[in-house]
Amino acid sequence: MAATGMSGAQPVVETRGLSREFRVDGRRVQALRDVSLTLSPGETLGIVGESGSGKSTLGRIIAGLDQQSSGQILHAGTDLASLGRAERRARLRSFQMIFQDPYASLNPRLSIGRQIHETLLAGGRRNRAENLAHAARLMERVGLPVEALARFPHEFSGGQRQRIAIARAISTGPSVIVADEPVSALDVTIREQIIALMEGLKDETAYLFISHDMAVVARICDRIAVMYLGQIMEIGTAAEVIGNPSHPYTRALLAAVPRIDRRRAGIPTSTQRPDYGIAGPLQALSPTHSVRLAAG
Ligand code: ADP
Ligand code: MG
Repeated sequence: MAATGMSGAQPVVETRGLSREFRVDGRRVQALRDVSLTLSPGETLGIVGESGSGKSTLGRIIAGLDQQSSGQILHAGTDLASLGRAERRARLRSFQMIFQDPYASLNPRLSIGRQIHETLLAGGRRNRAENLAHAARLMERVGLPVEALARFPHEFSGGQRQRIAIARAISTGPSVIVADEPVSALDVTIREQIIALMEGLKDETAYLFISHDMAVVARICDRIAVMYLGQIMEIGTAAEVIGNPSHPYTRALLAAVPRIDRRRAGIPTSTQRPDYGIAGPLQALSPTHSVRLAAG
């Protein structure tokens, strides 16, 4: 069983035994295996793990950009597979994504105001004047001048473009934002500003915040899931996972973070990639904290 959120409220998203297999040149790649987790309204769940651990695959499937090979996704308790196509798409409209490269996700030929208007249109808001007034308020919320609305993506810096991508993502008041490495391409000072901005925007929206960087996840997330080879190795509140890391892989990720006290985390010093063996079942350490034990 996955550890559930703290609030006890009906999860906005729940995955049950989610797996995803790819075939590459006749070889099987198991990108996700048996991923069960919940995302409660308004909470920020961090997904952390090294490159290739399945984080983006999980985010894309939850955002409806890819489909699982097996397992279920529930929206507010309803299995998406039980819904018709139209209803499924309608539900996924309250999901937004923020990507690592905002330039790739913005349309280079449309002004910022136009892009936000189009996003609002797709969400069923047809009044152009209202949409532009809303877009102006969004610029203020993400720390950009209103004049930005008349400009085009190439006229902005990387950090400013990520602010625009954030403005567009929050424009429709989504229930869930999947942010996949949103600060990984930014320099340290800009990264800090964008994290602070996202922290300030946390309200009724739930975030799935994907990062390979434990330091980033530790700053912004209420709960953290640690992934390795497509599996959740440990999941718990940020305080539990950082204060009482109970899987060796979690400790190894923490070891790579200079700002977190290594001794407190009981971190191994080896630089070799450890062999964690065949993973056993997730075992609950507390109502909110679970760790995968080695089998046998
Ligand atoms: P992460 O985001 O943690 O770096 P990914 O979810 O991108 O990990 O990838 C997990 C695994 O699945 C990797 O081995 C990757 O090569 C593979 N994978 C991801 N997407 C595809 C795809 N479209 N086709 C084939 N293999 C894929
Ligand atoms: Mg990725």
